[in-house]
Amino acid sequence: MVRLKTKREIELIRESSKIVADVLKLIGAHAKPGVTTLQLDRLAEDYIRSMGGKPAFKGYGHSKSNPFPGTLCTSVNDEVVHGIPSKRVLRDGDLLSVDVGVHKDGWYGDGAHSFAIGEVSEDLQRLMEATEEALYAGIAQAKVGNRVHDISAAIQRHVEGHGFSVVRDLVGHGVGAALHEEPAVPNFGHPGTGIKLKEGMTLAIEPMVNAGGWEVKVDADGWTVRTLDGSASAHFEHTIAIVNGKAEILTQ
Ligand code: MG
Repeated sequence: MVRLKTKREIELIRESSKIVADVLKLIGAHAKPGVTTLQLDRLAEDYIRSMGGKPAFKGYGHSKSNPFPGTLCTSVNDEVVHGIPSKRVLRDGDLLSVDVGVHKDGWYGDGAHSFAIGEVSEDLQRLMEATEEALYAGIAQAKVGNRVHDISAAIQRHVEGHGFSVVRDLVGHGVGAALHEEPAVPNFGHPGTGIKLKEGMTLAIEPMVNAGGWEVKVDADGWTVRTLDGSASAHFEHTIAIVNGKAEILTQ
């Protein structure tokens, strides 16, 4: 069931989402060659707690024996999402995707951004740009009168128009009272299908885009998702609310 939010509830989701946006800005300022992903994770956790929030991903998981250990998901190069922060040192030319969720006063915000570490190749730059543009193309379709796959189709069209592919195994989602709510928001699909978008819906829209094929695999750690063909991948995400008929971005 899709849970529609009141104006007041959207304000609370906005507060968590604002912390998400601040964290991504902070990480953007510190993600440089020579830094480890664990150092970035510590920075993020300290900031979130200083704002009275809790890292939403830490301890998350379907299996109690293997909860996600980080505040951030840090996914480098061919890692798509859910990379675990570690002593891995970022190098010049890496592409780092950072995903972060914040839980505050009972409400969640979720966002992601891919960063160029030092100087990246033109190909990686194009991949990042196309992914971010696809996110905004999707957000533009998140309005009353449309259906959820109008968002999906706009993302897919933009990505494939640039010769890249959208990951099929992982999707965007409703967000707010829980980190993952209905509906699923795939990054592929047919326009005019899926449930109707309504006032008060809050969604995490998040294209995950591979430079090569869309297939992915999961590492032995049970979390890290990487491209099957070893090509690079980028990820951008905003939490949005449908207010006055159209999308308002809460994570900025
Ligand atoms: Mg998400």
